[in-house]
Parts: sequence; structure tokens; C-alpha cells
Amino acid sequence: MNKINYQKQLEKILNEIDGQNLLLHSCCAPCSSYVLSYLSDYFKITVLYYNPNISDESEYNKRKSEQIRLISELPSKYPIEIIDRGYEPEKFFEISKGLEDVPEGGERCFGCYRLRLEKAAEAAKELGFDWFCTTLSISPLKNAEKINEIGNELAEKYGVKFLPSDFKKKEGFKRSIELSKKYDLYRQNYCGCVYSKK
Ligand code: SF4
Repeated sequence: MNKINYQKQLEKILNEIDGQNLLLHSCCAPCSSYVLSYLSDYFKITVLYYNPNISDESEYNKRKSEQIRLISELPSKYPIEIIDRGYEPEKFFEISKGLEDVPEGGERCFGCYRLRLEKAAEAAKELGFDWFCTTLSISPLKNAEKINEIGNELAEKYGVKFLPSDFKKKEGFKRSIELSKKYDLYRQNYCGCVYSKK
């Protein structure tokens, strides 16, 4: 079976729209740097910071304050806002039960994508956004197929459009490293959860 090219799908949509509202789930400032610089030319973006996977709370707050600083310093065509849906680590431990020893990139991660994407879909519906999306596909360690599959499923469930992506394409990951250096962003050396720390 041919692999779906999510970057091509995204480009087609970007050619057809301008100035619509996007709720963008972000895992951290470094991953969002390229995504924000790319998409803010097309969308009025609100960043959703919802990451119950992060261990521990001080790390959560550190990543969040870097996210806020990046938004305040990054030039953009449309202003970028941010909302935070709170730190709920118990939600992450619920979905991780029995999957604690699964290596990074497996079932636990799929549940972790879903947890965060579902919050984004829910909030997008509640707040009247045209689209929702996530920065997660920028990481070479994340499964873009799964992220898009879950996003499309939640779009159906909540009745909000999901913006397809594979942000690592077109040197997106490389650009995120360059932008992180430019803005002197704190770049963590583990994905987020206590299991990825080990
Ligand atoms: S490794 Fe990353 S994506 Fe996977 S469960 Fe942990 S925080 Fe989530």
C-alpha cells in the first residue's frame, strides 16, 4: 500500500484558505517553532498547551514558560494566542496502565497522541475553531501515520476539521533545531513521560 503524503495534503489545504482559526496542540516550544513560523502565514493560531504526559510538574512549567516566551518573540502575520488546559498527569497514567515497559514509538505513545489530540478536538469544538492540529508529527521519533489516523477519527467524532501534517518533511525538523538555537529555547533531552526519561 502506498504511504499517504500528509505534507502534500497540507499544502493543498494551505493553497485554498487564508485567515481561518486553527487550534494547534503543542508539545513544547522547540517543536512548535517551525510549525508556528510556517502556519502563522495562513491561520490565526491559538496554541493549546495540554501535555499530561510530562514528568514532572516543574518540567511541565518550564516547557510551558518557554512556549509563552517563543510566542511573544516570534514574528507572525496574525497574532498567536495560547491557552492551557491544565496539568493532569493522572490522565496519562490511566492510559499507560500495562504499557509502562513498551518502548518509545509503540502502543503507549499512540494512547499519548490520542489523549492530547482528543483534548484539542474537544476544545476546538467548544471554542468554535475551524481546524485543529498538533505539532507532534515534526519529530522523527513520532509516527505521522498514527497521528493523522487518530486526528481524522477525532475530526469525525467532534465535527471539527483536522489539519493533516508531517511537519518533519521539507526539512521541518532541521528548521526547528535552527529556530530553537536562534531563540535560545530550552530543548529537553527526553520526550516527556517518566518512561522516556529512563
Ligand atoms: S515517549 Fe513521548 S509520546 Fe511516548 S508515551 Fe512517553 S511522552 Fe508520550
